[in-house]
Amino acid sequence: MRRKVIAGNWKMNMLPNEAIEFIQNLEKQVKDTQNEVVLCVPYTDIFYSILNAQGTNIKIGAQNMHWETTGAYTGEISAEMLKSVGVEYVIIGHSERRQYFAETDETVNKKLKKALEVGLNPIVCVGETLEQRENGEATKVITSQTEKAISGLEANQVEKVIIAYEPIWAIGTGKTATKEDANEAVKQIREKIVEIYGQNVAERVIIQYGGSVKSTNAKELFEMSDIDGGLVGGASLKPDEFAKIVNYNK
Ligand code: PEP
Repeated sequence: MRRKVIAGNWKMNMLPNEAIEFIQNLEKQVKDTQNEVVLCVPYTDIFYSILNAQGTNIKIGAQNMHWETTGAYTGEISAEMLKSVGVEYVIIGHSERRQYFAETDETVNKKLKKALEVGLNPIVCVGETLEQRENGEATKVITSQTEKAISGLEANQVEKVIIAYEPIWAIGTGKTATKEDANEAVKQIREKIVEIYGQNVAERVIIQYGGSVKSTNAKELFEMSDIDGGLVGGASLKPDEFAKIVNYNK
């Protein structure tokens, strides 16, 4: 049985004092869950978040990284730097980074390889725009993004990748994919992995859904056969709401 991974993506929100307060509150509410709880926080919150999450079941992630180890890349942070302060997860290729910061399938692939090499758990985002969905291109887009992201990985590396299926039209819009559509898209991603690496490997890959997940729809989405938890943006900024999402199966 695959585990459920529920990750919050705070994006560019939360000052360190807010992060500390959030974690101290959330910790009490999620301590009994069997689900994996992750908070992907801004760089400036990482240190405080890790200190405050010590001894709890909350894991800390970053929202981006560079694929080089060191060098003249002003403003960038390497996977080794993240690892050195205790970060365990990293989001790669979020649609906002693809849209606003020129992230491409190629840079996603480089980052993914580096994250795995260093021992970070990567959460790789794929998803179609509304226009692509309406033109009947959703499957082609998400399977191609998946194939390019994992290109060149060994089977034992692919098993460690978490993929977040995030239809772009559902991110931050309040519009959620239906549970059937989300499950179908996740199945198509898994099928692509079956095609390249075989059934056994594909069955072990965690594939989340993301896009306006809230406490009111988390249960129906996460109980679908192929959806292994979620990547949660807006609703991860409120500890009570995020705790309800994490505890969807209680
Ligand atoms: C996200 O940022 O990954 C996301 C899914 O955002 P939201 O939950 O706000 O749609």
